[in-house]
This record gives sequence, C-alpha cells and structure tokens, in this order.
Amino acid sequence: MRRGFKTEAKSLALELRAEIGLDAHAPFDPYTFASEYGIPVVQLSDLDGGARDHFLRADGSALSGALIPNGSGVVILENDAQPLTRRRTTMCHELAHVVLEHKFGVSLSDERKCGLGGDQEAEADWLSGEMLIPNDGAFRLARANATDEEAADAYDVSLAVARWRMNHSGARKVMERARAKWANTASSYR
Ligand SMILES: [Zn+2]
Repeated sequence: MRRGFKTEAKSLALELRAEIGLDAHAPFDPYTFASEYGIPVVQLSDLDGGARDHFLRADGSALSGALIPNGSGVVILENDAQPLTRRRTTMCHELAHVVLEHKFGVSLSDERKCGLGGDQEAEADWLSGEMLIPNDGAFRLARANATDEEAADAYDVSLAVARWRMNHSGARKVMERARAKWANTASSYR
C-alpha cells in the first residue's frame, strides 16, 4: 500500500460519508451512495439465465461483485443471494475502486479478490473498511469497551469486518496503552 494511504483513507471516508449525510458513527449505506454518485447497481438475480450462469462460475465459486465498464462510467454487479452484511462489504469494496479511480478492465470480486493487482486491492479493502467503520467510530467503540459483536451491530457489518476494524484501525491498541498509562499514573499517587 502506498505510503500515507491509510491517513488519506481516514479523511476520505469521512468525506464520502458526509456526502450522504452520515457522520462517523452511523452505518454506511452503499446503495444510497451509489445512487448519489450515479453508479448503477445491477443484481445478479435480475440477469437472465445465461448471463447469470456466466457469473456463477463452473468451479462453483460464486461471484460476490463486479465492476463492469459502461461507456465512460461503470456499473456495479452484485450477488444479491449473499447475506446483506457480505453484500455491503462487497459494495463498499467496489465503490472504493471507483472513488479511487482505479484502472480496471472487468473487475470480478470473488472472496474479495478482483484481480486488479496487489496495491489496488489493498487500497480498496482499506478504504472500504474506513467507509464501513471509520477510524473515529472504532475509537469511540474502543473507549466504550465495545465487543466485536457490538461493533458489528452498531455498523451493520459482519463480525469478521467488525473484528478486523477494531483490531487493525489501532483503536484498541491506543486505548489499551492510554489505560495502562493512566493506571501507572494513578498507582504512583497511591
Ligand atoms: Zn477489488
């Protein structure tokens, strides 16, 4: 990942949220965002049999989502048979590619791999994480000692995404250090 990208992603995600009237503490709505940005979203169940079979590949791996070039724009294709939390993660990942203006042919998301290449995938994953649970939100939850389950509920994300954000945003680590420091300071006055 490019140096400084994580810092940029933090503020970019807050800007993207603000565009649809959300602060750092509400669940992100990728569908509202796509419609505000004029990005059409097509559901796999809307395609006719032949096209659908094309995306439900022979090796049995189901497509999660895809970016499909459409003139000068792009269409997001999503597999609406998957659980909603999973769909929201896929949507944010694809939206992140669009917002970051990644270059792509056709991007097929299967188990979070689009085939766009390392850096672009890593950046889309990281930005989508910030969209789903912003750094500020993770810190507020960490201060409140929220469990992964509580974080997942608060942001309408899967447990895996909540765990990843709570542990990798640095929120818990910083809070643990702050508490340890406070405990030391407090004990020195005893
Ligand atoms: Zn991707």
